Amino acid sequence: MDHLSCDLCGKALLADEPVRYQVRIQVYAAYDPLELTPDDLSRDHRDEIHALLERLAAADPREVEESVYKELHFDLCMACQRRYICAPLPRPAEAAPAP
Ligand SMILES: [Zn+2]
Repeated sequence: MDHLSCDLCGKALLADEPVRYQVRIQVYAAYDPLELTPDDLSRDHRDEIHALLERLAAADPREVEESVYKELHFDLCMACQRRYICAPLPRPAEAAPAP
């Protein structure tokens, strides 16, 4: 996203387009409210917390962060904006493979 070219087709935006579009995508982990029971509150969670901290210490910080929240920004020309809003989520066969 450089504000100068379309992130899909590469077309120059400022010189060739009267308007440009910005796409802001937020992907974040959804959660459901916890349902705590008296047993949950009375149980010792230290071993679980310790195990979680060990897993996090060994994990890639970027991967951990992206598993919780990721924000993406793109610039689009008018033609790509029209295509994008018709199909914002590509089917798995059309999407790029996961890194
Ligand atoms: Zn474009």
